[in-house]
Amino acid sequence: MNDCIFCRIVKGELPCTKVYEDDAVLAFMDIGPIIKGHVLVIPKAHYATLPEVPAELAARVMVVVQKVATALMSALSADGVNVHQSNGACAGQVVPHVHFHVIPRFNDDGHRWNWAAVKYENPAEMAALGQRVRTALTP
Ligand code: AMP
Ligand code: ZN
Repeated sequence: MNDCIFCRIVKGELPCTKVYEDDAVLAFMDIGPIIKGHVLVIPKAHYATLPEVPAELAARVMVVVQKVATALMSALSADGVNVHQSNGACAGQVVPHVHFHVIPRFNDDGHRWNWAAVKYENPAEMAALGQRVRTALTP
C-alpha cells in the first residue's frame, strides 16, 4: 500500500520512534498520545481491520501488545494500561492499517473515556443478539 502511512513507516520512508520490531510486527510511539508513552503495535503486512488479519499473525501482534503493556508498567511505572483497537470509520479508525493502541495509565492522569453505557429493553433483546453472535461463531 503506497499511500498508507503505517506501510510507509514499515518501509522506512517515514520516521518513527521504534520501540520493538521483529519480522512480522512493529511497535512505535504514537505522535498524538492520549497519555504520554502511548505506543502503537502493528503487523508489518497491510490489513485494514482486525477481522482481515490471519489468525496466526493476529496472535503474534497480541503477544507484542502484551510485551509493550508489561514494558509500560515497568519502564514508565504506569499504574495500569488501556489496550484500544478500532475497526472502521464509525468506530473511530482514522489510519486504515490495523493497529493496537497501548496506553499507559496513571492514577492521577485525569483521563476519562466517554464510555456511556446503554440498557437493553429487556433480557430477551440481549439473548437474541447473543444468539446471532453465537451462531456466527459456530464452526
Ligand atoms: P486511529 O484513530 O485508531 O486510527 O489511530 C491512529 C493513530 O495514529 C492516532 O493516535 C495518531 O496519533 C497516530 N499516528 C498517525 N500518524 C502517525 C505517525 N506518523 N507516527 C505515529 N503515530 C501516528
Ligand atoms: Zn498499511
